[in-house]
Formats: sequence, structure tokens, C-alpha cells
Amino acid sequence: ARPLPRDTALRDRARKVIPGGMWGHMDARRLPHGYPQFFAGAKGTRLRDVDGNEYVDFMCSYGPMILGYGDPDVEAAADAQRARMGIANGPGEILVELAELMVDTVPAADWALFAKNGTDATTACVTIARAHGGRRKVLVARGAYHGSAPWCTPWPAGTTAEDRAHLIYYTYNDVASLKAAAEAAGEDLAGILVSAFRHDGRVDQEMPTREFAGAARALADSHDAALILDDVRAGFRLHPGGSWEPLGVRPDLAAWSKALGNGYPIAAVTGNDRMRDAARQIFVTGSFWCGPVPMAAAAATLAKLGDGDAVAHMARMGTLLREGIQAQADALGVGLRQTGPAQLPLMLFDDDPKLERGDLFAVTALRHGVYLHPWHNMFLSAAHTEDDIEIALKATGKALEAVARAFP
Ligand code: PMP
Repeated sequence: ARPLPRDTALRDRARKVIPGGMWGHMDARRLPHGYPQFFAGAKGTRLRDVDGNEYVDFMCSYGPMILGYGDPDVEAAADAQRARMGIANGPGEILVELAELMVDTVPAADWALFAKNGTDATTACVTIARAHGGRRKVLVARGAYHGSAPWCTPWPAGTTAEDRAHLIYYTYNDVASLKAAAEAAGEDLAGILVSAFRHDGRVDQEMPTREFAGAARALADSHDAALILDDVRAGFRLHPGGSWEPLGVRPDLAAWSKALGNGYPIAAVTGNDRMRDAARQIFVTGSFWCGPVPMAAAAATLAKLGDGDAVAHMARMGTLLREGIQAQADALGVGLRQTGPAQLPLMLFDDDPKLERGDLFAVTALRHGVYLHPWHNMFLSAAHTEDDIEIALKATGKALEAVARAFP
């Protein structure tokens, strides 16, 4: 790995004043040695770390970047709004405009409300589902990530069993397990929470089957419960109107964040008329939830994403990358699995229980200027070009050769 002197010095300072030196999903210690923790610049599809190394980025800040870092149209909209009003005693007109835009863009939505993070949105969805009908049980897929609040954080430290007392777990895409979970909830079923697709870390991704999606919809209907789509990660990358649109299954509630503001902090809950009353009853808010600057950025992002061109572009770039990597791996006889949608690709190596092949692959690509992830799904953006893919494939070619050499 390249030496990262400035990064190392910052990590040393951070350890003294930040618990553990870093927290959460962006803790670089979750990545192989050689990945930088700290960054200094981001433009288009390129990142620069604090030591001056440049990377073509395929993580997009874990999702928020979808049009390119510093997209000029989004920045202009945010700048214009900031010059008029950055914060006030209430929202600006942009709130209503953005809600109208969400309702126009998302066929399942009759209304929208806004927050900051994905966890705000998933938590509000669960709260609304419970407020509708006063029932308690929520079905959640085992291993699925829905945020970092006590009811859903993957690390149990500091949480209580009571935080999750009314969750019942099912296996994603397993209709029998979903039905069994609904049966266990019985009269007390408030909601069924589904990820856009199975995108748990370290395991192959799975698209939802029509049968699974249909069963989730039917169970929610027969129990007068809410079908809640967590579109925080996949939202706007699979379909402009929601990730289950291609399946023809519409949720009652959906949680959005990440790509919505192309990097500006904003989340949304959308819902249908059946959930409108419940959404009115709950009290959810935050000091920054009505801030108009991220809303202006979101409106500009939605406008620029358009009605499908961006999705098609991301799918095309992701497919180029995927097919290129597959051809390289096949030529070297390296076994790997590329799963999930091409816009949110994940690759895992065969016979790699400790992720040693994955780590070597990722860190070698990094050395060649391409930022991939060894075990989390990656993200394509509308800003990625064929040149970016060509650069990526040069790096993955070297990285796969390194894997073939180290694991003959
Ligand atoms: N749901 C999903 C599917 C996510 O991927 C994430 C974030 N990785 C969240 C919820 C939580 O979002 P946030 O980190 O913005 O709270």
C-alpha cells in the first residue's frame, strides 16, 4: 500500500478526541489497510485524499453522489437558495415545490415529508405504520440494514431487547418465512419493511422475486398493515419512481435519502392516502429538517435525473464494468460472483471466507487509482463515463492478476 503520512497523522489526532478515532460505516478500518480515512477533494467522479492521491470513485459516498460531486446545476440551485435564506422559523416555498415534485415523480406517493438521514425516514415510516391502526408488530428481513437507531442498529451495544420487542424477522425473498412472520404477528401486524433488493454486506445480492413482492403486498392488504419500502440506498438508481415500480408492486410508505440531494443532507418519506391520517398524527421533526438549501438541491437533482435517462446510463456503465471484470476473471480462471443490479454492483470471490481475495483485489485496484469496495455494494452515478470504466478496468485487470498470483 502507498504511505499515507497525512492520513496517518490525522488518525493519530482523531484517536485522542473522537471515540475510537472514527465511528460508523465510514470507519476506514472496515476496509483493507491502505484505504485513506480522510479526503480533501471531490469533483465529478474523482476523489482526492489528504495525501494527494486521486481515485476514480465507485462508492459515491455510499450513495449520496448520483450526478457527480459538485454538480454545477445542483450547486447553483443550492447557492441561489442559500443567498436568499439558509434557515428560518419555517420552511420556504421550496418545501411545497419539492413535495409536489416527489408526488409527481413517485407513482405510489400522494404526499411527502422531509428529514435529514435515512434512519429518520425509516423510523418515521415504522412510526406512521404503527399510528395507522394502533398495532405494534413490524416484519423485518434478517440481516437487512435500515439505519442506526436503537430499533435497527446492527450493533446491539447500548440498546435493549425492548427496542426490538415488536420486530419479527423473515428471510428476504422467502415467501414462506414472510407468511410465517405475518402469522406470528396476527392481529398486531402494523407493517412489513422491505429493502429495495437484498443488499446486505458480505453476501450475494438478490433482486426481489415477483412472488415475494406480491406476497408482501397481499399480506399488508389483508392485515390493513403498511408495506414499507426502504429505498434509502437504491432510490433513483433502479427506477426514478421507486425501486419496486418495475415489479408493479407499490408500497404504502417509502423511505428515501442518499441520492435525493446529490450530497446535500435530506431524506424523505412518501406515502399514499391510506397512510395520510397516520402521518398527520405523529410528531417527527428536527432543527434542520425544514432547511431550504438541501431542498433546493434535491429539486435540482430530481429535475436533472429526469425520467429514466440517468438510470439507463448508470445501468449501461455498471454493465460495462461488470462485463469487463467478468471477462478478466474468466481469462485468469479466477472465480467470482457479481450480483445485484449493475447500478449497485457487488463482487465477491469464490472460496473467500475471510475476504482475503476481496481485500487484495480492492487494495490493488486502489493503488491503481480506483476506489472500489471489497464487500459492500458499490454505486454507479450519472457522471461515470466510458473513460472512467476504462480506467477502472485497467486497475481491475491488475488487481485480478494479483489475486490469481496470490491464490493460484
Ligand atoms: N436504509 C438503507 C437501506 C441504507 O442503506 C441506509 C444507509 N446505509 C439507511 C437506511 C440509513 O440511512 P442513514 O445512514 O442516512 O441514516
